[in-house]
Amino acid sequence: RQAAFRTDLSVLLEQVGSGKESLSFMKRRIRRLAQQWATAANRLDLKLGQRWRDQKKILVHVGFLTEESGDVFSPKVLKGGPLGEMVQWADILTALHVLGHNLKISMSVKELQGTSLILYRMYVWVMLCVGLTVVPCCLSRCHIRVIDTFGTEPAYNHEEYATLHGYRTNWGYWNLIPRQYMTMFPHTPDNSFMGFVSEELNETEKRSISQNKVNNMAVVYGKEASMWKQGKESFMEILHRYMEVHGTVYYETQRPPEVPPFVKNHGLLPQHELQQLLRKAKLFIGFGFPYEGPAPLEAIANGCIFLQPKFQPPHSSLNHDFFRGKPTSREVFSQHPYAEQYIGRPHVMTVDYNNSFEFDSAIQEIMKIKVEPYLPYEYTCEGMLERVHAYIQNQDFCVPEPPFIPTNLSLPRSASGSRMLGPLFVPLPNSTALGWAPNMMAPAAWPPLSSLRLLVSQEGQSCVEACHSAGFVCEPAHFRFINNKEALRGLEVQCEVVDSEINHVLPAFSVMRRECGLQREPLLFSCAGYSPKYRRLCPCRDFRPEQVALCRDCL
Ligand code: UDP
Repeated sequence: RQAAFRTDLSVLLEQVGSGKESLSFMKRRIRRLAQQWATAANRLDLKLGQRWRDQKKILVHVGFLTEESGDVFSPKVLKGGPLGEMVQWADILTALHVLGHNLKISMSVKELQGTSLILYRMYVWVMLCVGLTVVPCCLSRCHIRVIDTFGTEPAYNHEEYATLHGYRTNWGYWNLIPRQYMTMFPHTPDNSFMGFVSEELNETEKRSISQNKVNNMAVVYGKEASMWKQGKESFMEILHRYMEVHGTVYYETQRPPEVPPFVKNHGLLPQHELQQLLRKAKLFIGFGFPYEGPAPLEAIANGCIFLQPKFQPPHSSLNHDFFRGKPTSREVFSQHPYAEQYIGRPHVMTVDYNNSFEFDSAIQEIMKIKVEPYLPYEYTCEGMLERVHAYIQNQDFCVPEPPFIPTNLSLPRSASGSRMLGPLFVPLPNSTALGWAPNMMAPAAWPPLSSLRLLVSQEGQSCVEACHSAGFVCEPAHFRFINNKEALRGLEVQCEVVDSEINHVLPAFSVMRRECGLQREPLLFSCAGYSPKYRRLCPCRDFRPEQVALCRDCL
């Protein structure tokens, strides 16, 4: 069946159910953004034209809200607990509904394991919002998508490898194809970027915001008193010298002692009231925690400048409790890396909070400059619909992806000759460059092969960084095309030995030892991996502006 866009959300609201604070929060959000979703649906409908879209049966299991998982979320909704996840779940449900799919929402493990499981075999997408430790037996693995805020790197996902090499955590070792994990931000290209949406403004609202901005008004990012603890006195004192400081910290009866007396605390606000506060404020200031939440995007969308601390050394699972035990080695260089890397100045300023001079100048600059509200396309409703549409129609983990052996490979030579300084960029403009004889069919791939750019990393550099430094993004789906001797030969590497091994940095080569290695376990193809001994072969691809999940020819 063909899927038809839906702009009426009443059926969805009914499906979400009620009786819990978390569900009420999600429903309030769905209602509040309904108009925005409808407009986006109409626009995307026009953009996609007459294209056929399969209607899929999709089961969404909101694991963390089930009784069986202890549901730690619901009781904290009104008390400053994490809301980012609920923002994302509400938006995923809405996107799937608006795209016209046949949606079933499950909120209990019993239900998931019950008699209806047989029926679930027919679901093509089974989306798990975590809260399960094992995959129920009757679900077919390749249909699963796991909503995973901070990402799962391949080395942690492969159970045996993780166990043998110290990557075993409480999460993640499900042996899925890493793209089956879907993240909140595009920080781990080994996974798929799912995202969420933020409020969009029309021209009238934008005008009224720019007229009503209060240049010396700051709102602090941190709804739980513990986020205000310790070590904040010196920069808070500077901030207070210039600005009126507002907070939205949850409290029961008394003002939390962590919040300094000069702060005007509004208590935890409903989402739409927070938006109103952000419309007036000039500055939204982060204290270093929470990491990578939705609030900074909302602030920037409402015309605030987001000021956040730089982390030097970076935070990671090696040195910070929050990341400890999470299935990732990712290093986080600021509170909100997406804001820093994808948005940046003038909307985002990342400074060293221990340097009072730097902090002081940032505040002064913020009060002076004028910024427009800004929301990257990938966080608009249309952007999210476009991306989720592309995943649903094109990502298929149930068809095997055989290794690809090109014939008669002829790659353009590098200009710098055989001594490779810096990442060597070898453009592969089309499939012929990879060596298909013209009468051979290029395998149907998504993202399409036309987006592939082969690149060699430096020693100790991951493919995430190597691709990024050349203006591309690492694309794990393309590893299978470059995991062959022909790709190595094309790069003029003098391999004395070519081994095929199980190691998450492969394919790669060691210049010193003249050894080349190919990957034997496709589940371990990893953008994130790096090793000081190896230069890696990296499958990079192009991407659309403000829609990094999709390549130019991906739609
Ligand atoms: N939020 C809210 N009221 C407040 C503060 C925050 O409704 O007083 C909402 C905010 O709009 C955002 C959500 O809480 O969408 C998640 O915020 P945050 O970035 O703090 O991430 P979290 O740590 O909760 O995942």
